[in-house]
Amino acid sequence: MYLVLLGPPGAGKGTQADLLSRNRDIPHISTGDILRSAVDEETELGEEAREHMERGDLVPDEVVIGITRQRLAADDVADGFVLDGFPRTVRQAESLDSIMQQDMDGSLDVVINLDVPETELIRRMTGRRICPTCGRNYHLVFNAPRSLGECDECGSDLIQREDDKESVVRQRLQVYQKSSKPLIDYYDDLGLLVNVDGRGSVEQVYEAIEDLIG
Ligand SMILES: [Zn+2]
Repeated sequence: MYLVLLGPPGAGKGTQADLLSRNRDIPHISTGDILRSAVDEETELGEEAREHMERGDLVPDEVVIGITRQRLAADDVADGFVLDGFPRTVRQAESLDSIMQQDMDGSLDVVINLDVPETELIRRMTGRRICPTCGRNYHLVFNAPRSLGECDECGSDLIQREDDKESVVRQRLQVYQKSSKPLIDYYDDLGLLVNVDGRGSVEQVYEAIEDLIG
């Protein structure tokens, strides 16, 4: 089965993609991971991606598409995949369709859109804390330290990353809503889009996905 997972930051895409991958024995292809490995392996496209990432720019569509195309040429995608983080734009989605048609003689089966209200996303994302000394991650609601504000491992004062502050989170969510709308409409028009309520526990959301895709 060929799946795409869409959803805002904080919706739990990576976790659900991992579960789908393990239970269905298909690879979890995250664009972040394949971009990083192309950069590490110093491939031609990887070098191009690195230049943009170092400048803090978005990696251009053609580079992301090229790296994804190379990843989709591997043998392990013969029975399916779950894509996470790609496509991000309608142009990338159109490229994915043609890569699948030309190189794999296939097409997507379903696009799962994890739907989580903004207030819940803000609660999830602003609760993250990290230990600046040992790097351990916490969450004030889901994975709280034993003593408020202190690392269980080393006792350091926990910090909130700049990216997890409410104003930054709100900004990221707005950017996501605006940029994802055309993509969601594109898949809806193709009849591939399935909305899944992403509010419950990891297990509940996973069950809802499995129920819907069968
Ligand atoms: Zn620590």
